[in-house]
Amino acid sequence: MIIDGKKIAEELRFKLKKEIDQLPTNLSKPGLTVILIGDHPASQIYVRNKEKFAKEVGINSKLLKFEETITEQDLIQEIHKLNDDSTVHGILVQLPLPSHIDSGKIISEINPAKDVDGFHPNNVGNLSSGNDALVPCTPYGCYLLLKKVIPNLSGLNAVIIGRSNINGKPMAQLLLKENCTVTITHSKTKNLKDLCLTADILVASVGNPQMVKADWVKKDCVIIDVGINRLEDNGTKRIVGDVDFENVKDLVKAITPVPGGVGPMTISCLLNNTIKAYKKINSI
Ligand code: NAP
Repeated sequence: MIIDGKKIAEELRFKLKKEIDQLPTNLSKPGLTVILIGDHPASQIYVRNKEKFAKEVGINSKLLKFEETITEQDLIQEIHKLNDDSTVHGILVQLPLPSHIDSGKIISEINPAKDVDGFHPNNVGNLSSGNDALVPCTPYGCYLLLKKVIPNLSGLNAVIIGRSNINGKPMAQLLLKENCTVTITHSKTKNLKDLCLTADILVASVGNPQMVKADWVKKDCVIIDVGINRLEDNGTKRIVGDVDFENVKDLVKAITPVPGGVGPMTISCLLNNTIKAYKKINSI
């Protein structure tokens, strides 16, 4: 089975739109502000898509653009203004930031209740304590895709390749909460292939094109491929994941394609987080 992330992401946006349509009319609509610094081309595309889909579901989306030269202090001031703005329920600072700005410091200045990327230490702590939290969008999207295929994840062996703060670690927390037995692997892990062969659930978040081969996966495994890698063969550009999709897809129970798997879920989960933040702020 190929997991259709595009369709599942669309279904989530449809549900969110319906939810927004039914919100009390005396309240302002949910508001999301994205801060973009500099003119990083990939970031510009991500931000444009975020705005487009936010508008589509009825979220008031605003983009604040600043020059690459903005100081850390000025950026913090802008964040404080958004923290105090009652029409803003979600704040997202598009990463990466220029090297003179400490992204950890910036994220810590966002009101955790409006931290729709789920990167603030309070949200990270709440997620790892098993409490309610705004969860990072990509791993939450992976989790929703998995739940579509296997509604009850309890007792399954999950192997995660990659320990990043944005994907690998929060993914592990989500799966632990579902009573999976979780193994987090990374670049220093020994016998990675053998560990992958124990996986009922395999999540690859590495950034290494097609590294997971057909003889690394067991039958009935469900694979979530987070990787986005750009390849060029004889002048033809294409995007592939961290899994050798063509040779793996017929061996396993289910797999996400790249593109069209995890990617589309990330924005839908951002909108989901914005509405979650809105409801909590308004005690709905
Ligand atoms: P990251 O911060 O670069 O982390 C990569 C992880 O992979 C690290 O933990 C690293 O280990 C590990 N690793 C590297 N080489 C390895 C190897 N040979 N064997 C085992 N582990 C290895 O990456 P990320 O931010 O998690 O992103 C990973 C991929 O997902 C990228 O392709 C990125 O473009 C993609 N991505 C997709 C979405 C989406 O919406 N679909 C969102 C975000 C990212 P160490 O910790 O030891 O260095």
